[in-house]
Amino acid sequence: MSSLALLHASQLLTLAGPKRPRVGKELSELGIIRDGGMLIRDGKIDMVGPSDQIEKSLTALGHQVPEGGKNVEIVDLGGRVALPGFVDAHTHLVFGGNRLDDFERRTRGETYEQIAKAGGGIWSTVEKTRVANEEELFEFTKKRLDWFLECGTTTIEAKSGYGLTVEDELKILRVVRRLNDETPLEIVSTFLGAHAIRRETSTDKYVELVINEMLPRVVKERLAEFCDVFCERGYFDLEQSRKILMAAKKLGLKLRGHVDQLTNSGGAKLMADVGAMTADHLEKTDGGGIAALKSAKVQPVLLPGSVYALGSTSYPRAREMIGAGLAVVLATDFNPGSSPTPSMPMVLSLACTQMKMSPAEAISAATTNAAYSLNRGDKIGSLEAGKLANVAVFDCEDYRELAYWFGIPQTHSVYLRGRRT
Ligand SMILES: [Zn+2]
Repeated sequence: MSSLALLHASQLLTLAGPKRPRVGKELSELGIIRDGGMLIRDGKIDMVGPSDQIEKSLTALGHQVPEGGKNVEIVDLGGRVALPGFVDAHTHLVFGGNRLDDFERRTRGETYEQIAKAGGGIWSTVEKTRVANEEELFEFTKKRLDWFLECGTTTIEAKSGYGLTVEDELKILRVVRRLNDETPLEIVSTFLGAHAIRRETSTDKYVELVINEMLPRVVKERLAEFCDVFCERGYFDLEQSRKILMAAKKLGLKLRGHVDQLTNSGGAKLMADVGAMTADHLEKTDGGGIAALKSAKVQPVLLPGSVYALGSTSYPRAREMIGAGLAVVLATDFNPGSSPTPSMPMVLSLACTQMKMSPAEAISAATTNAAYSLNRGDKIGSLEAGKLANVAVFDCEDYRELAYWFGIPQTHSVYLRGRRT
């Protein structure tokens, strides 16, 4: 048995609390232990408490503190902040190329239509993703995973959606599976075949392809836990989205959805109707949509990075959602077009400055609530005995500094299942 003791965090944010997503005032309760420490055995948390308590039990076990001893390593965190590794519950992790030209065109004030006409937009990413083989996509994405780790993220949800043919969608999901198997990060897979409409076919024909060919293959090869759709004017309408989601549900997949991002089209209500785990984006969702999410216990996943990067000011109504009792989640929406950031600390900053969430609410939304939205609330998202030892340590003394300083990396070290990365 190998053991690790982490001692002397200025604040150890345990996020200990009820075994369910946090709502209302619970979002502000971070379970902080001052001069906190923890004992980790075989990748799992064994004990959490004040450092002197952890030291005492180490001494009782015959170990020298601070030197450690046989099979126990002791690490002094030096008065830094420690918390559960971030859980990024919405990313488009695997894609070919980048969208630098689109980015520059947007700075010149060009519209989405102008950019698409010039060969940019989602289609340029689909083309670059299709020409890349599995090995190339794997290598390319593996490098990006380091960015996530450097920002303190230890679990990532990853969607397909830049293939849009049966083989290309499966290729992306296989890359996700390999990244999960061959890197220390945990990567949760979501099938998003209905991300954009194929140029080659009509929308209805494409919906049939998604339902009749893609979904059965994805399920047969166990390539995804979740199914997602982009429900939006000009993409997949309410009925097409419902059809795809219900077909996925029948096959045993859990549901997420991109809804109400550009227009308030009733997407939040759809996600409530179909019994989705999450409704994501929600920039345009109104009071009726919020009430529907509440009654069906759907978790809203808010993505302020994409609002910021598109130069918009239309942030989702986080305060109203928290007031209504929704178990809010924050994520990066990492993708080459509208949100090229892997940084959860940047998302915390945006949540506080633009959506008026408190630093504590933002941290709950980025850890424990995000874990529940991925059906992993019993394993990750808080630092409690029995959970995986996924810990992020930041070079600051007060957790509020995570959202306060922005544009500079504060990550000191990251532990995945008790191993320093
Ligand atoms: Zn997205």
